[in-house]
Amino acid sequence: MEISFEQEISQLRLGAGDTFHGEGILAITKALLESGVSYIGGYQGAPVSHLLDVMVQAKDLVAELGVHVEACSNEASAAAMLGASIHYPLRGAVTWKSIVGTNVAADALANLASPGVTGGVLMVIGEDYGEGASVVQERTHAYAMKSGLLLFDPRPELQNMVDMVRHAFRASEASNMPAMMELRIRACHLRGSFACSDNRRPTVSALAPLAEPAAFDYSRLAHPPSTFRHEKLKVEERIPAARNYILAHQLNELRGGRHAQVGIVVQGGISHALLRALQDFGAADAYGHSEVPLLILNVTYPLVHDQIAEFAAGKDALLVVEEGSPEYIEHEIASVLQRHGLKTVLHGKDMIAATGELNPEAMLNGLAQFFARHLPAVDVQPVRAQLDATAARRLQLAAMLERVPAAAVAPVAAALPARPPGFCVGCPERPVFSALKLAQQDVGPVHVAADIGCHSFATFEPFSLGHSILGYGMSLASRAGVSPVMQRRVISIMGDGGFWHNGLLTGVQSALFNGDDAVLLIFKNGYTSATGTQDILSTPGKANKATAADKTASLTATDRTIEDTLAGIGVKWLRTVHSYRVTTMRRVLREALTTDFRGLKVIVADGECQLERQRRIRPWLEAMLARGERSVRVKYGVDEDVCNGDHACMRLSGCPTLTLKDNPDPLKVDPVATVIDGCVGCGLCGENAHAATLCPSFYRAEVVRNPRWRERALDALRAVALRVLRPA
Ligand code: SF4
Ligand code: SF4
Repeated sequence: MEISFEQEISQLRLGAGDTFHGEGILAITKALLESGVSYIGGYQGAPVSHLLDVMVQAKDLVAELGVHVEACSNEASAAAMLGASIHYPLRGAVTWKSIVGTNVAADALANLASPGVTGGVLMVIGEDYGEGASVVQERTHAYAMKSGLLLFDPRPELQNMVDMVRHAFRASEASNMPAMMELRIRACHLRGSFACSDNRRPTVSALAPLAEPAAFDYSRLAHPPSTFRHEKLKVEERIPAARNYILAHQLNELRGGRHAQVGIVVQGGISHALLRALQDFGAADAYGHSEVPLLILNVTYPLVHDQIAEFAAGKDALLVVEEGSPEYIEHEIASVLQRHGLKTVLHGKDMIAATGELNPEAMLNGLAQFFARHLPAVDVQPVRAQLDATAARRLQLAAMLERVPAAAVAPVAAALPARPPGFCVGCPERPVFSALKLAQQDVGPVHVAADIGCHSFATFEPFSLGHSILGYGMSLASRAGVSPVMQRRVISIMGDGGFWHNGLLTGVQSALFNGDDAVLLIFKNGYTSATGTQDILSTPGKANKATAADKTASLTATDRTIEDTLAGIGVKWLRTVHSYRVTTMRRVLREALTTDFRGLKVIVADGECQLERQRRIRPWLEAMLARGERSVRVKYGVDEDVCNGDHACMRLSGCPTLTLKDNPDPLKVDPVATVIDGCVGCGLCGENAHAATLCPSFYRAEVVRNPRWRERALDALRAVALRVLRPA
C-alpha cells in the first residue's frame, strides 16, 4: 500500500490537554489507544478501513505502547482473535465491514459470546447500509440480539463517539458481553474535535507478557455442558448487568421538550438527521434542542426496559425512528409497553420508511404523519408543501426523461450525468474481460460466477459479465451446483484478495476434493484493491516491484505465492498469463473451457493494480524529472482519418479515456473514437486492435521528457522532413 498516514499517526500521539481535530474513524482509533487496548485486528472494508490501515503503519507508536496489531486474513480470524479476552484481562478491538463481514465472523462471534469475556472487547463495525452502500442491505442488530452482544450506535459527534468507546470497554467488562459499535459512512467521515487523554499502555502486553497461562477452566469453553450455563448467564446475569451499566452511566440521552404528551425514540447514529428534520417543523434548533422529548439510544442492544417504560409513561404516543427492517427496536418497545401495562400508542414502521436510508425526505414524511395524528400544535403544512413540491419535481423529471424529445431533456441530462462505476483507467482487469468476451465468441456464451472485488465492475457495460455474486471469495464454490448441469464449462472469477480471504478453502479445496471439472480465473493484481489496496500474503516486496515508468509490465512473475499454493495442494492445470496480453489470454481461456483435461483448471491473470502502480511511480517520475533525467510516457491515440466510427474498440474496452468526438470529416456523421489525456498507456487499445482484428486506427506514441541530444536532433530532422513533405 503506497498511501502514507504519517499525519494521522501524529494525531494518535496527542495527549491530555490536547484537542484532536479530524475524522470520526480516526477519533475512534485514538480512543482505542486511550482505552489501553492490548491488541487490535480486523479486516478492512468501507467505511472503517482507515482504522486498520493507520494502525498497520503506526509501527513505532504501537511498539512503544506494546499494542499488537494484526491484519487478519478475514473477519472470522479477526473475531477469533478476540478469544484472547476470554481468560485474560486484555482489552482488544477489531474492525470490519458489516453486514458481510459479520456474516463471515458469525461462528467465532457466537463462540466468543457464549463463554463471555473477561477483558473488554470492542468490534468497530462499518454499518454499510443505505445510500452509498456496497453490500446487501441487512442490519447488524440481528447479531447483537441472537448472540448477546452489546450494540453501540453513537450519536455522531466526536466527543460522544470517543466517550462511547471508553464506555464500551467498561460495559463489556461489567457484563462480560463483547461489544459492537456500528458506524455509518457519515459517522466515519464527519470531522470534528474532542478533548484527548493520554494513550494508555496496557497492563498486559507484548512489553509486559504474562508469565503463566490461565488455569484450566472448562466453564470457559463454548462446549456442552458449559454452553447450557452460558445461555442462562446471558439472560440472567450479563444482559441485566449491561442494562445496569447503561443506566448508571446514562449512556442513552434524554432530551426534554415542551410537548411532553409525545416522544421519539431514535437510534443514536441517525439522531442528527432526526434533529435536522425537526428543525424543518420548527420543533428543534440548530444546537440540538428539541421541543419534542427524545430518547437517543447510544446503545441499541440491550434496550433498558425500565428506561423506556419511564420515558413512555404519561405520553399519548411514541414514535420509534429506526433504520431499515425488521423493526427490532420497535418490536421490543411494543412488548415493554405491553408488559408495563402502558396505553401509549406506538408508531414506527407504519410511518417511517421500512427500507433504505432515513434521509431528510423519509424523516419529514414520517414526522408529518406523526405530528398530524398526535401533535396538532406543530404545523405540518409547510413541510407537506415542501414534500409535495419535491414529489412533483421528481414526477416532472421522470416524465421529461420518458416522453419529451431528446433535445428538451438535454439540459436536465447535462446537469445529472450518469456515472456508473467502472475500472480505473489502465486497470489490468479490463483486458482480461476483453479477452473473455472474445473467447466467448469462439466457444459460445458461458455461465460466469462472479465475486466481490474490483472485477465485479465487469458486471457493468460494456462487459455485462457475471451471473451471480455469493460473497467474497465464493465464486468457485458458487458454481458447484451449476457446472454439472451445463454443457459448456462455467468460469469463476476471483481476485487475489478473495482467494486469500475465503476462496482457497471454500472454493479450491472443495473443487479439488470433489474432482470438479471447473475453471477458475484469479486476478493477481497484488493487493485487495477494492477495499483500499491493502497488502496481502502475495503482495510482492518493494524490491520486486518494477519502477521503470516506460514499462507496461509490472508485477508479472515477481510473486508466485498463489501459484505455489495451488500447485502444492494439487492443482494440475495451472497457467499464469500477463493480464494485458489479450490474444494470449483469449487462447488460454479457450483452452481452459474446451480442453479434455477434467478437473480444476486455474488461470492466474498477472498484472499490478494500476491505481497502486500510479501512486508508486508518480513520485518516482517527478523526482526523475526534477533531476533532469530522461523519462518516457507511453500514450495511445486514434487516427481520426482512419477510424471508421463503428466503436467496436469501446465495446471491448470500456476505458474512460477512450471516448468519442465529432467526426472531422464533413461527409461522415458517426463520431470517431479518441483517446483523451488521462491515458496511462496500458497498451490495451493496441492489444484489442490486434486480438479482435479491429480497424488499424490506433497508434502508440512515446512522450519523451528530458530527451537526449540524439533524440533532439532526430526530432529536428523529422520536423524539417514534415515541413518539406506537407502539402502547401
Ligand atoms: S483499484 Fe486497481 S484493480 Fe481496482 S479498478 Fe482500479 S486499477 Fe483496477
Ligand atoms: S491504452 Fe487504451 S485502454 Fe489503456 S489507458 Fe490508454 S486509452 Fe485506456
